[in-house]
Amino acid sequence: MANQQIEGNNNVQVGRLDGDLIVEPPTPFMREDDPNVVPCPFQCGQRTWWNAPGCWNCGRPVLAFFQQQARNAQKERLTKAAVISGLIGLVLAMGSQYLPSGISGVALVVGVLGILGFAALGSQADRLK
Ligand SMILES: [Zn+2]
Repeated sequence: MANQQIEGNNNVQVGRLDGDLIVEPPTPFMREDDPNVVPCPFQCGQRTWWNAPGCWNCGRPVLAFFQQQARNAQKERLTKAAVISGLIGLVLAMGSQYLPSGISGVALVVGVLGILGFAALGSQADRLK
């Protein structure tokens, strides 16, 4: 390849291949006990910072990847909570008529609230992309 462009600072020349200059980005200093250092999620084989916009080695969007993962986990929690709330609400609302009159009214109200909780939590989960 002719007319190479080398981007970034402090790149290290590691060799030549048919006249091409081969460069690598410098390996950044990472403390062994740095809790923000994780294996690159794009499997470039290097360790990188989870909160860096891009992996120092492969340049792929590390932070965006972990943010998406967090949104997916939150969406899953909300969906589970919605289903549990809805099921409990449905059972209480439908079963309230078989309960003694003293508590059937309370069971019906709690059941309806559970069904409303299903709708509220579900729409919250839907808003997470
Ligand atoms: Zn990487």
